Amino acid sequence: MITIPNKRTDRLLHFKFSEKYSEINPYDYLETFQMPDWNVRIHEMLAEFFYAEKSGISGMTEMQSISNHTYAGQKMPVEWIRKRGEIAKMVGELLRANLIAVGSEGKNHDAERKPIDTAIIHHTSTKHSAKLNYIDALGLIRLYAKAYGDKENSEYGKLIWSNHVMNGRQTFIPYHYVIMRDGTFERCLDDGMIGWHAGNWEVNCKSIAICFMDDLEDSKPTEPAMKTAISIIKKHNIKSENIFGHREISDRTTCPGKKFYDWKFELCNESGIKQTTLSL
Ligand SMILES: [Zn+2]
Repeated sequence: MITIPNKRTDRLLHFKFSEKYSEINPYDYLETFQMPDWNVRIHEMLAEFFYAEKSGISGMTEMQSISNHTYAGQKMPVEWIRKRGEIAKMVGELLRANLIAVGSEGKNHDAERKPIDTAIIHHTSTKHSAKLNYIDALGLIRLYAKAYGDKENSEYGKLIWSNHVMNGRQTFIPYHYVIMRDGTFERCLDDGMIGWHAGNWEVNCKSIAICFMDDLEDSKPTEPAMKTAISIIKKHNIKSENIFGHREISDRTTCPGKKFYDWKFELCNESGIKQTTLSL
């Protein structure tokens, strides 16, 4: 009898996590992530750590951030925060190694894309040294795994498919631009792609999402990061009155931080197209 080696199983057996884990044993989840409906199977765990609704309003999914040990308006214990971080780290490592079952085709989530006339500003609320892979993992967990695990959704239980491919692989990052503290940036989604970022589908359809890789809960963006944001908004010819912080669109989040209104004016004033008043 000839046995054809199953490459994925073989890779599973030899896969080694490189990060440190103390709250979870990531090897316990390896098999589960191979199942097409892994997000349904571990829904309860994901819900406990990632799917809180701050005000009880359900509906559009969005990135729920965590800041100063506070999540969805509640102070959380250190162990909880550590475990949550480890789950995201595990998903990041598995994504990078191609060891999570996701679709290779699926629904065109970008069919309702409209002309871009709005910019929405976000922060990752992670350490500024976080890697894009971590943001990708958070997007997969918080947005797509949640939507595809929702019984009301037509895509329930199907293989997850974001319809967004960048650099030859599927991406779950919901932002068009991610700006680092030094002012460099990554272009994560093309203009024609709808980012699932604002918690409001209509806004998502007509906006670009600009995200600072930083925790801005109590601070403002660095000077170089601000300059980059300004030049991106300018490039897209967006009117000043159409530039919003995420928190202005959704009352479920404080993104991009408590100080946003201190620096919003500078951002809009420098980058947005002014409305000209015609005097008769
Ligand atoms: Zn946000």
